[in-house]
Amino acid sequence: MQQIRMVDLQAQYKRLQPEVDKAMADVVDQTAFINGTDVKTFQNNLEDYLKVKHVIPCANGTDALQVALMALGLKEGDEVITSTFTFIATVEVIALLKLKPVLVDVDLNTFMLIPEQVEAAISENTRAIIPVHLFGQGADMNRLMEIAEKHQLKVVEDTAQAIGSNYQYNNQVQKLGTIGDIGCTSFFPSKNLGCFGDGGACFTNNDELAAQMRMIVNHGSQKKYYHKVIGINSRLDTLQAAILNVKLKELDDFNNRRRKAADFYDGAFKDHNDIQVPARTQECLHTFHQYTLRVKDGRRDDLQAYLKEKGIPSMVYYPVALHQQEAFEHFIKKTPNLPNAEQLCKEVLSLPMHTELTNEQLNYITDAILAFFE
Ligand SMILES: *Cc1c(COP(=O)(O)O)cnc(C)c1O
Repeated sequence: MQQIRMVDLQAQYKRLQPEVDKAMADVVDQTAFINGTDVKTFQNNLEDYLKVKHVIPCANGTDALQVALMALGLKEGDEVITSTFTFIATVEVIALLKLKPVLVDVDLNTFMLIPEQVEAAISENTRAIIPVHLFGQGADMNRLMEIAEKHQLKVVEDTAQAIGSNYQYNNQVQKLGTIGDIGCTSFFPSKNLGCFGDGGACFTNNDELAAQMRMIVNHGSQKKYYHKVIGINSRLDTLQAAILNVKLKELDDFNNRRRKAADFYDGAFKDHNDIQVPARTQECLHTFHQYTLRVKDGRRDDLQAYLKEKGIPSMVYYPVALHQQEAFEHFIKKTPNLPNAEQLCKEVLSLPMHTELTNEQLNYITDAILAFFE
């Protein structure tokens, strides 16, 4: 049996190697490293794939979130509501822009923001909500968009872990990231659509926000050496765009492969008393960036150690909720307590999840986990 990896980028590369290598060689041959034609082609391809009017490529997913918030023109002290159970980048950019992160609890089964608690956290200073589509699952966009409209708030979707997920919004199926005012994603190598380094993008159907974001990623400039606003330098390398053009064609296949592995795990663990499989909602076709179990009765760490002995990697996403991070001690607006997120930090365990898992590997993993609880 092939060694089991948490994410198997090597096996995926081997499968796509001829096309990817050619795409990279062409860029090198033309030495078109910055703003080469592949960047624009990728922008167009991703717009078509997501059925969104504008894609603004940038250097990474964290920049995408920062650029989105900069484009909304928020003022120091404005409040932005988001999840306390997410990767740090979501909250980091809020704090960096001198905005106030307001962290809200998540549902124990879906890991998504609880809309009622979002609404309860709204104050006169609230300007935006960032739903995080964690692990490939969709936040409750129907309710969250209603709340945002009612209170005139902007919505920036953190789609770094859910690119390609379909979501039933009202009566229409849309890609996650194209429902709110702006969607953001990351092309970090291990993401569902990953390049060979850093990369990211913002998407929007709003012409003005798109123009603003294009300016911000380009030093605040539309015309060279004329600067309208304070921007940053955030570009997607041509090499990365060329790789992404090859891999975007495979994204639906990648996500189907992930879902198949998740189906296998579900089949083995569905009615188990000691572990809970990740919830799937009616609205969202989950793309399983992670397959995350909840392990009950304080046995998570023991299970992880046992799996390690058997040569099975696993990860805890995330061990500490963001409202408990030292870095944010003075930077977040305190909400009384966020018990679900704190409980999840003790219970979650993500299993190997990627596009190259074989049935033999999946059998080995599920057998080992079932044996642990016997
Ligand atoms: C990966 C990730 C980001 C940041 O993306 P980078 O490309 O690593 O900067 C932001 N939010 C979430 C939820 C992520 O998983």
